Amino acid sequence: MKIYIETYGCQMNVCDSGKIVHLFANQGYQPTSDSRSADLIVINTCSVREKPELKLFSALGRYIPLKRQRPELVIAVGGCVAQQWGEKLQQRCPGLDIVFGTHQLDHLPRLVAEVRQSHKALSATDFLDCPGGLEVMARPVPDAVSAMVTIMQGCDNFCSYCIVPHVRGREYSRPSEAIIEEVRMLAASGIKEVMLLGQNVNSYGLKASGEISFAKLLNLVHEVEGIERIRFTTSHPKDMSDELIAAFATLPKLCPSLHLPMQAGSDVVLKRMGRGYTAASYLEKVEKLRRVVPDIALTTDIIVGFPGESEADFQQTLSMLEKVGYDQIYSFKYSIRPGTRAADYDDIVADEDKRDRLARCQALQDEISQAVLLAQVGKVVEVLVTGSSKRGEGEWSGRTPESRIVNFPAPVSAPAAVEIAAGDIYQVKIVKAFKHSLRGEVVVDAGS
Ligand code: SF4
Repeated sequence: MKIYIETYGCQMNVCDSGKIVHLFANQGYQPTSDSRSADLIVINTCSVREKPELKLFSALGRYIPLKRQRPELVIAVGGCVAQQWGEKLQQRCPGLDIVFGTHQLDHLPRLVAEVRQSHKALSATDFLDCPGGLEVMARPVPDAVSAMVTIMQGCDNFCSYCIVPHVRGREYSRPSEAIIEEVRMLAASGIKEVMLLGQNVNSYGLKASGEISFAKLLNLVHEVEGIERIRFTTSHPKDMSDELIAAFATLPKLCPSLHLPMQAGSDVVLKRMGRGYTAASYLEKVEKLRRVVPDIALTTDIIVGFPGESEADFQQTLSMLEKVGYDQIYSFKYSIRPGTRAADYDDIVADEDKRDRLARCQALQDEISQAVLLAQVGKVVEVLVTGSSKRGEGEWSGRTPESRIVNFPAPVSAPAAVEIAAGDIYQVKIVKAFKHSLRGEVVVDAGS
């Protein structure tokens, strides 16, 4: 039996897809990259923006007709769109066998078995007190050096544009013991780097009686032998506590890189978004972070053309990009998400203005990103090898603690004829900056 999975959206979804592969491996399914040979097709969806939703309908348009040749094929849709649409998705797309919600991931094998027996479409989208699937371990990709660990799910912030609290449910923190156990198992299987995941990791544990804070959780992960690097995402700026900022100074394995979604630079827009901070208080957090880790690499999310955003508001977003000097941004045109508060705002920004602002925002950031990468040339950085580079044989790829991509050739005259392998750590001198990556040369081999 073969399972084909298509994943849209965020890292949480990527992690959930890894869990689905793991669940079905226990049932004898092998993953395949060929949808036409699959016995089970799972589409793990995202509805944060409109585009991935449209992608789902186009994918179902391709996959449902496959059932004519392969009537035993089962098709399931999970994730945020499934949660939002429920059975209506099956009414719109006849032939779709299973719709499973964001709390129902671990029920998927049972649902598939039921559909195979009854040949009837099923839908399961109830929210549970403890989201199902959180305790399922994602199967690390073979030879992977990094793994994702979900530490919480859901969100209580209800930013006015965001569908997440409606489709992922209320904030739930996994017990810290279970998280540490998972990190230990990953380390034992050779994983060197963990990415702790949640919609708002900064508020981890705050609403769970007797649970530790996120900063304390980081301390425990830091103690796990074999783990060399720790990252986390996503952080809400308003919940970026002093305790968490201090952790960057005291935990050497905590990478100096942080995704801190700003969304907009205008206080008027931030207020209408319901973000709970101002541009000044955001900058204050950035300054505090940089006092602790001067070279911390920051990335962010930007929405342009939020309802009511004027040109002057947008200019303040551009000004924030310059002030912060992000490594990278993930920028999008605002799109209406039905069911959110902002969907009722009627001061819509014209699409051509959104397009124009997005282009200007990205052009400015390209310059900033280029300057950040150029500033690395000449420095010696630590690179965790993630695998061979797409550039060809003898070329390797890895990431710095700041998460910058570095490609480098295998040293031909290394003192100890080193065989480079994923998971090794090298000191690499940066010799060139490209648009999205760096090129370097190994100067000291300190293989782990
Ligand atoms: S913090 Fe806001 S943007 Fe982030 S998931 Fe929660 S509601 Fe959505």
